[in-house]
Amino acid sequence: MSGVPELSVVIPMYNEEAVLPALVARLRPALDALGVSYEVVAVDDGSADGTASLVDDLRIEWPHLRLIRLRRNSGHQAALTAGLHRSRGGWVVSIDADLQDPPESIGDMLRLAREKNLDVVYGVRGDRATDTPFKRNTAGLYYRLMRRIVGPDLPSQAGDFRLVSRSVVDVLRRMPERVPVYRLLIPSLGFSSGSVSYTRERRAAGETKYPLRKMVALAWDSTADFTAAPLRLATWLGMAAFTASLVAMVFGLVVWANGTVIPGWTSLFLAVLLFAAVQLICLGLLGEYVARIYRTLQNRPAFHIGSDSADTSAAASAVP
Ligand code: UDP
Ligand code: MG
Repeated sequence: MSGVPELSVVIPMYNEEAVLPALVARLRPALDALGVSYEVVAVDDGSADGTASLVDDLRIEWPHLRLIRLRRNSGHQAALTAGLHRSRGGWVVSIDADLQDPPESIGDMLRLAREKNLDVVYGVRGDRATDTPFKRNTAGLYYRLMRRIVGPDLPSQAGDFRLVSRSVVDVLRRMPERVPVYRLLIPSLGFSSGSVSYTRERRAAGETKYPLRKMVALAWDSTADFTAAPLRLATWLGMAAFTASLVAMVFGLVVWANGTVIPGWTSLFLAVLLFAAVQLICLGLLGEYVARIYRTLQNRPAFHIGSDSADTSAAASAVP
Protein backbone atom coordinates (compact mmCIF):
# COMPACT_ATOMS: atom_id res chain seq x y z
CA MET A 1 0.00 0.00 0.00
CA SER A 2 1.43 3.38 -0.89
CA GLY A 3 0.60 6.90 0.23
CA VAL A 4 -0.73 8.09 3.55
CA PRO A 5 -3.94 6.36 4.64
CA GLU A 6 -6.76 8.40 6.14
CA LEU A 7 -7.08 6.04 9.09
CA SER A 8 -4.70 3.84 11.09
CA VAL A 9 -6.03 1.19 13.44
CA VAL A 10 -3.45 0.20 16.05
CA ILE A 11 -3.95 -3.18 17.74
CA PRO A 12 -1.54 -4.36 20.45
CA MET A 13 -1.44 -8.15 20.57
CA TYR A 14 0.08 -10.44 23.12
CA ASN A 15 -0.58 -14.15 22.56
CA GLU A 16 -3.81 -13.41 20.70
CA GLU A 17 -3.60 -16.26 18.19
CA ALA A 18 -6.96 -17.65 19.33
CA VAL A 19 -8.90 -14.45 18.70
CA LEU A 20 -7.28 -13.32 15.44
CA PRO A 21 -9.63 -15.04 12.96
CA ALA A 22 -12.69 -13.64 14.73
CA LEU A 23 -11.06 -10.21 14.92
CA VAL A 24 -10.33 -10.05 11.21
CA ALA A 25 -13.79 -11.38 10.35
CA ARG A 26 -15.39 -8.46 12.18
CA LEU A 27 -12.85 -5.70 11.74
CA ARG A 28 -12.41 -5.97 8.01
CA PRO A 29 -16.04 -5.45 6.93
CA ALA A 30 -16.38 -2.66 9.51
CA LEU A 31 -13.38 -0.83 8.04
CA ASP A 32 -14.25 -1.53 4.41
CA ALA A 33 -17.70 -0.05 5.03
CA LEU A 34 -16.20 3.29 6.08
CA GLY A 35 -15.13 4.21 2.57
CA VAL A 36 -11.79 5.66 3.70
CA SER A 37 -8.27 4.46 2.99
CA TYR A 38 -6.84 2.71 6.02
CA GLU A 39 -4.03 0.60 7.45
CA VAL A 40 -4.29 -1.84 10.32
CA VAL A 41 -1.16 -1.81 12.47
CA ALA A 42 -0.92 -5.08 14.39
CA VAL A 43 1.77 -4.73 17.05
CA ASP A 44 2.95 -8.13 18.18
CA ASP A 45 4.15 -7.55 21.73
CA GLY A 46 6.66 -10.40 21.80
CA SER A 47 4.03 -13.14 21.75
CA ALA A 48 5.16 -16.65 22.54
CA ASP A 49 2.39 -18.23 20.45
CA GLY A 50 1.78 -18.04 16.72
CA THR A 51 0.32 -14.50 16.70
CA ALA A 52 3.01 -12.98 14.46
CA SER A 53 3.06 -15.75 11.88
CA LEU A 54 -0.73 -15.79 11.75
CA VAL A 55 -0.83 -12.03 11.12
CA ASP A 56 1.79 -12.53 8.44
CA ASP A 57 -0.39 -15.16 6.78
CA LEU A 58 -3.44 -12.94 7.00
CA ARG A 59 -1.53 -10.14 5.27
CA ILE A 60 -1.56 -12.11 2.04
CA GLU A 61 -5.36 -11.87 1.92
CA TRP A 62 -5.60 -8.43 3.46
CA PRO A 63 -2.86 -6.06 2.23
CA HIS A 64 -4.04 -3.26 4.53
CA LEU A 65 -2.74 -5.29 7.44
CA ARG A 66 0.70 -4.33 8.66
CA LEU A 67 2.77 -6.18 11.25
CA ILE A 68 5.16 -4.58 13.70
CA ARG A 69 7.03 -7.02 15.88
CA LEU A 70 8.55 -6.06 19.21
CA ARG A 71 11.54 -8.14 20.16
CA ARG A 72 10.15 -8.98 23.57
CA ASN A 73 7.01 -8.60 25.63
CA SER A 74 7.13 -4.93 26.61
CA GLY A 75 3.59 -4.41 27.88
CA HIS A 76 0.31 -3.08 26.51
CA GLN A 77 1.18 0.63 26.79
CA ALA A 78 4.61 0.11 25.19
CA ALA A 79 3.02 -1.80 22.32
CA LEU A 80 0.54 1.04 21.90
CA THR A 81 3.43 3.51 21.83
CA ALA A 82 5.18 1.54 19.09
CA GLY A 83 1.97 1.44 17.06
CA LEU A 84 1.12 5.11 17.54
CA HIS A 85 4.63 6.26 16.68
CA ARG A 86 4.74 4.14 13.55
CA SER A 87 1.20 4.79 12.36
CA ARG A 88 0.78 6.96 9.28
CA GLY A 89 -2.92 7.75 9.15
CA GLY A 90 -4.50 11.18 9.51
CA TRP A 91 -6.64 9.61 12.23
CA VAL A 92 -5.43 6.89 14.56
CA VAL A 93 -7.69 4.51 16.45
CA SER A 94 -6.36 2.18 19.14
CA ILE A 95 -8.39 -0.91 19.88
CA ASP A 96 -7.90 -4.17 21.81
CA ALA A 97 -7.43 -7.38 19.87
CA ASP A 98 -10.01 -9.38 21.82
CA LEU A 99 -13.17 -7.74 20.36
CA GLN A 100 -14.16 -6.32 23.73
CA ASP A 101 -14.26 -2.99 21.91
CA PRO A 102 -16.67 -3.21 18.96
CA PRO A 103 -14.94 -2.37 15.64
CA GLU A 104 -18.24 -0.98 14.35
CA SER A 105 -17.86 1.97 16.76
CA ILE A 106 -14.79 3.17 14.85
CA GLY A 107 -17.16 4.59 12.22
CA ASP A 108 -19.12 6.49 14.88
CA MET A 109 -15.88 7.91 16.29
CA LEU A 110 -14.68 9.07 12.89
CA ARG A 111 -18.03 10.65 12.02
CA LEU A 112 -18.20 12.49 15.33
CA ALA A 113 -14.63 13.76 15.01
CA ARG A 114 -15.24 15.04 11.51
CA GLU A 115 -18.65 16.56 12.20
CA LYS A 116 -17.63 18.40 15.33
CA ASN A 117 -14.03 19.01 14.33
CA LEU A 118 -12.64 17.14 17.34
CA ASP A 119 -9.10 15.93 17.94
CA VAL A 120 -9.96 13.13 20.36
CA VAL A 121 -12.94 10.79 20.58
CA TYR A 122 -13.02 8.47 23.59
CA GLY A 123 -14.77 5.14 23.59
CA VAL A 124 -16.63 5.14 26.88
CA ARG A 125 -17.76 1.83 28.31
CA GLY A 126 -21.41 2.40 28.98
CA ASP A 127 -22.11 -1.15 30.03
CA ARG A 128 -19.56 -3.52 31.54
CA ALA A 129 -22.01 -6.26 32.47
CA THR A 130 -19.87 -8.85 30.71
CA ASP A 131 -16.77 -8.06 32.80
CA THR A 132 -16.27 -9.98 36.04
CA PRO A 133 -17.43 -8.20 39.23
CA PHE A 134 -13.76 -8.06 40.28
CA LYS A 135 -12.75 -6.29 37.07
CA ARG A 136 -15.70 -3.88 37.31
CA ASN A 137 -14.97 -2.99 40.92
CA THR A 138 -11.24 -2.54 40.50
CA ALA A 139 -11.84 -0.49 37.34
CA GLY A 140 -14.39 1.67 39.19
CA LEU A 141 -11.88 2.31 41.96
CA TYR A 142 -9.15 3.08 39.44
CA TYR A 143 -11.20 5.68 37.58
CA ARG A 144 -12.37 7.34 40.82
CA LEU A 145 -8.79 7.61 42.05
CA MET A 146 -7.53 8.90 38.71
CA ARG A 147 -10.22 11.57 38.52
CA ARG A 148 -9.02 12.82 41.88
CA ILE A 149 -5.45 12.88 40.69
CA VAL A 150 -5.79 14.12 37.11
CA GLY A 151 -8.93 16.21 37.54
CA PRO A 152 -12.62 16.08 36.72
CA ASP A 153 -11.97 16.45 32.97
CA LEU A 154 -10.83 12.85 32.87
CA PRO A 155 -13.50 10.82 31.15
CA SER A 156 -14.56 7.96 33.39
CA GLN A 157 -14.52 4.43 31.98
CA ALA A 158 -12.51 5.49 28.93
CA GLY A 159 -9.78 2.94 28.34
CA ASP A 160 -7.53 2.67 25.33
CA PHE A 161 -10.26 2.43 22.69
CA ARG A 162 -10.06 5.92 21.23
CA LEU A 163 -9.55 7.94 18.10
CA VAL A 164 -7.00 10.73 17.88
CA SER A 165 -5.99 13.09 15.10
CA ARG A 166 -2.54 13.34 13.61
CA SER A 167 -1.91 16.56 15.61
CA VAL A 168 -2.38 14.59 18.84
CA VAL A 169 -0.03 11.85 17.64
CA ASP A 170 2.57 14.48 16.73
CA VAL A 171 2.38 15.97 20.23
CA LEU A 172 2.60 12.49 21.81
CA ARG A 173 5.62 11.60 19.73
CA ARG A 174 7.47 14.64 20.97
CA MET A 175 6.84 13.83 24.64
CA PRO A 176 9.98 12.68 26.45
CA GLU A 177 8.11 10.11 28.54
CA ARG A 178 9.16 6.52 27.88
CA VAL A 179 5.77 4.90 28.06
CA PRO A 180 2.97 7.19 29.05
CA VAL A 181 -0.35 6.03 30.43
CA TYR A 182 -2.30 7.27 27.44
CA ARG A 183 -5.74 7.24 29.02
CA LEU A 184 -4.50 9.90 31.46
CA LEU A 185 -2.00 11.76 29.32
CA ILE A 186 -4.27 12.42 26.34
CA PRO A 187 -7.09 14.05 28.35
CA SER A 188 -4.50 16.21 30.14
CA LEU A 189 -3.27 17.68 26.82
CA GLY A 190 -6.46 19.69 26.45
CA PHE A 191 -7.42 18.85 22.87
CA SER A 192 -11.07 19.22 21.86
CA SER A 193 -12.76 15.93 22.62
CA GLY A 194 -15.97 13.98 22.51
CA SER A 195 -17.02 10.47 23.31
CA VAL A 196 -18.89 7.54 21.90
CA SER A 197 -20.56 5.14 24.29
CA TYR A 198 -20.32 1.40 23.70
CA THR A 199 -21.11 -1.84 25.40
CA ARG A 200 -18.08 -3.75 26.61
CA GLU A 201 -18.40 -7.21 25.15
CA ARG A 202 -17.02 -10.47 26.39
CA ARG A 203 -13.52 -11.41 25.23
CA ALA A 204 -14.14 -13.28 21.96
CA ALA A 205 -11.50 -15.97 22.58
CA GLY A 206 -8.43 -16.65 24.67
CA GLU A 207 -7.78 -15.34 28.16
CA THR A 208 -7.05 -11.96 29.66
CA LYS A 209 -3.46 -10.76 29.24
CA TYR A 210 -3.89 -8.49 32.24
CA PRO A 211 -3.24 -10.50 35.39
CA LEU A 212 -3.49 -8.74 38.76
CA ARG A 213 0.24 -7.99 38.66
CA LYS A 214 -0.13 -5.92 35.45
CA MET A 215 -3.26 -4.20 36.77
CA VAL A 216 -1.41 -3.10 39.91
CA ALA A 217 1.54 -1.96 37.80
CA LEU A 218 -0.76 0.15 35.61
CA ALA A 219 -2.43 1.69 38.66
CA TRP A 220 0.94 2.60 40.20
CA ASP A 221 2.33 3.97 36.92
CA SER A 222 -0.82 6.05 36.56
CA THR A 223 -0.42 7.45 40.06
CA ALA A 224 3.30 8.11 40.01
CA ASP A 225 3.24 9.64 36.52
CA PHE A 226 0.66 12.21 37.49
CA THR A 227 1.24 13.12 41.10
CA ALA A 228 3.94 13.34 43.72
CA ALA A 229 1.26 13.11 46.42
CA PRO A 230 2.57 9.77 47.74
CA LEU A 231 5.85 11.52 48.54
CA ARG A 232 3.87 14.09 50.50
CA LEU A 233 2.04 11.24 52.19
CA ALA A 234 5.45 10.12 53.42
CA THR A 235 5.97 13.57 54.97
CA TRP A 236 2.55 13.42 56.64
CA LEU A 237 3.24 9.95 57.96
CA GLY A 238 6.55 11.20 59.33
CA MET A 239 4.86 14.20 61.00
CA ALA A 240 2.19 11.98 62.53
CA ALA A 241 4.85 9.61 63.83
CA PHE A 242 6.80 12.58 65.26
CA THR A 243 3.71 13.94 67.04
CA ALA A 244 2.95 10.52 68.44
CA SER A 245 6.50 10.18 69.71
CA LEU A 246 6.31 13.63 71.40
CA VAL A 247 3.23 12.48 73.29
CA ALA A 248 4.99 9.26 74.19
CA MET A 249 8.03 11.24 75.43
CA VAL A 250 5.88 13.40 77.70
CA PHE A 251 4.18 10.28 79.02
CA GLY A 252 7.53 8.62 79.63
CA LEU A 253 8.88 11.67 81.49
CA VAL A 254 5.78 11.88 83.71
CA VAL A 255 6.06 8.23 84.62
CA TRP A 256 9.77 8.66 85.30
CA ALA A 257 9.17 11.76 87.50
CA ASN A 258 6.63 9.82 89.55
CA GLY A 259 9.28 7.25 90.22
CA THR A 260 7.26 4.38 88.87
CA VAL A 261 9.28 1.92 86.88
CA ILE A 262 7.43 0.52 83.95
CA PRO A 263 8.23 -2.90 82.56
CA GLY A 264 7.70 -1.26 79.16
CA TRP A 265 9.29 -3.79 76.93
CA THR A 266 6.15 -4.41 74.85
CA SER A 267 5.43 -0.74 74.26
CA LEU A 268 9.04 -0.08 73.33
CA PHE A 269 9.13 -3.02 71.01
CA LEU A 270 5.92 -1.99 69.28
CA ALA A 271 7.01 1.62 68.97
CA VAL A 272 10.33 0.65 67.41
CA LEU A 273 8.56 -1.64 64.96
CA LEU A 274 6.01 1.03 64.04
CA PHE A 275 8.56 3.76 63.44
CA ALA A 276 10.85 1.47 61.53
CA ALA A 277 7.92 0.53 59.32
CA VAL A 278 6.97 4.16 58.71
CA GLN A 279 10.55 5.00 57.82
CA LEU A 280 10.80 2.09 55.42
CA ILE A 281 7.56 3.08 53.72
CA CYS A 282 8.84 6.62 53.28
CA LEU A 283 12.15 5.38 51.94
CA GLY A 284 10.35 3.04 49.57
CA LEU A 285 8.24 5.88 48.21
CA LEU A 286 11.33 8.01 47.68
CA GLY A 287 12.96 5.07 45.95
CA GLU A 288 10.04 4.68 43.54
CA TYR A 289 10.36 8.26 42.35
CA VAL A 290 14.16 8.18 42.27
CA ALA A 291 13.91 5.06 40.12
CA ARG A 292 11.63 6.97 37.73
CA ILE A 293 14.11 9.85 37.53
CA TYR A 294 16.89 7.38 36.86
CA ARG A 295 14.95 5.60 34.14
CA THR A 296 14.09 8.90 32.49
CA LEU A 297 17.75 9.96 32.60
CA GLN A 298 18.89 6.67 31.10
CA ASN A 299 16.44 7.35 28.29
CA ARG A 300 16.52 3.75 27.15
CA PRO A 301 13.83 2.81 24.68
CA ALA A 302 10.95 0.97 26.32
CA PHE A 303 10.69 -1.43 23.40
CA HIS A 304 12.69 -2.52 20.41
CA ILE A 305 11.01 -2.95 17.07
CA GLY A 306 12.25 -6.16 15.50
CA SER A 307 10.54 -5.67 12.17
CA ASP A 308 7.84 -3.63 10.48
CA SER A 309 6.19 -5.12 7.43
CA ALA A 310 5.76 -1.60 6.03
CA ASP A 311 9.56 -1.18 6.00
CA THR A 312 10.10 -4.39 4.09
CA SER A 313 7.36 -3.66 1.59
CA ALA A 314 8.71 -0.12 1.17
CA ALA A 315 12.17 -1.58 0.57
CA ALA A 316 10.73 -4.11 -1.82
CA SER A 317 8.84 -1.52 -3.82
CA ALA A 318 11.94 0.69 -3.92
CA VAL A 319 13.70 -1.94 -5.98
CA PRO A 320 13.14 -1.05 -9.64
N1 UDP B 1 -1.61 -6.70 25.56
C1 UDP B 1 -0.32 -6.47 25.07
N2 UDP B 1 0.76 -6.72 25.89
C2 UDP B 1 0.62 -7.20 27.17
C3 UDP B 1 -0.70 -7.41 27.66
C4 UDP B 1 -1.78 -7.14 26.85
O1 UDP B 1 -0.16 -6.05 23.94
O2 UDP B 1 1.64 -7.41 27.83
C5 UDP B 1 -2.77 -6.44 24.69
C6 UDP B 1 -3.74 -7.60 24.51
O3 UDP B 1 -3.30 -8.48 23.50
C7 UDP B 1 -5.03 -6.89 24.19
C8 UDP B 1 -4.93 -5.60 24.98
O4 UDP B 1 -3.54 -5.43 25.30
O5 UDP B 1 -5.15 -6.57 22.81
C9 UDP B 1 -5.77 -5.64 26.25
O6 UDP B 1 -5.47 -6.81 26.99
P1 UDP B 1 -6.61 -7.76 27.59
O7 UDP B 1 -7.79 -7.77 26.68
O8 UDP B 1 -6.02 -9.08 27.90
O9 UDP B 1 -6.95 -6.98 28.93
P2 UDP B 1 -8.37 -6.92 29.69
O10 UDP B 1 -9.41 -6.59 28.66
O11 UDP B 1 -8.56 -8.26 30.29
O12 UDP B 1 -8.17 -5.83 30.69
MG1 MG C 1 -9.72 -7.47 26.94
